[in-house]
Amino acid sequence: MRKHTITALWEEVPDDADDLVLVRGGFRVYLCVCGRQLADRAAAELHAAETDQCTTCLGTTVQDIVPGFSQPCTACAGTGRRRAQLTWQLAHAEAESVITVEIVRGLIAGLTGPFRLSEVADLVRETLHLPVGRLPVGPRVRDILRGLEAQGELVLISAPDELLRGTSVMLYRDPYWEHATG
Ligand SMILES: [Zn+2]
Ligand SMILES: [Zn+2]
Repeated sequence: MRKHTITALWEEVPDDADDLVLVRGGFRVYLCVCGRQLADRAAAELHAAETDQCTTCLGTTVQDIVPGFSQPCTACAGTGRRRAQLTWQLAHAEAESVITVEIVRGLIAGLTGPFRLSEVADLVRETLHLPVGRLPVGPRVRDILRGLEAQGELVLISAPDELLRGTSVMLYRDPYWEHATG
């Protein structure tokens, strides 16, 4: 089988670069070893899809977030395979329907003091009898907790683990919140 290893090379990133464009695949030049011209991120994703590779990490198994910082690809569970990515997408959709805001709100209502994302995820798994690794429980619970935070019900009290671009791109591994008071 012909190889379609896609490489993304960083271009110079200006200090005032748009952070969203940066983390979503901008400021890079995309090349495939087969010689296909890949003009931009969209073309690279399309080529990854037609060669059965994950469209998030382009088959590399890692996501380059900013120059000098990468992490294992969460879209395909670090496999680089399109099939794994599609399976995981379905699992995300299932997690969204199974783990509702009401369930999470009910579970954290009894917690006094700060609680960690991983604690709440474990509570959800136990309560719903979800086996570890089948559904993306952590990412779903994180989305819900961030939503409650945005609505003012919760306050994020942990410091970020990494500042990737000042305070505009930050990484939280296992953040913790507490209930807003008053
Ligand atoms: Zn190719
Ligand atoms: Zn991937």
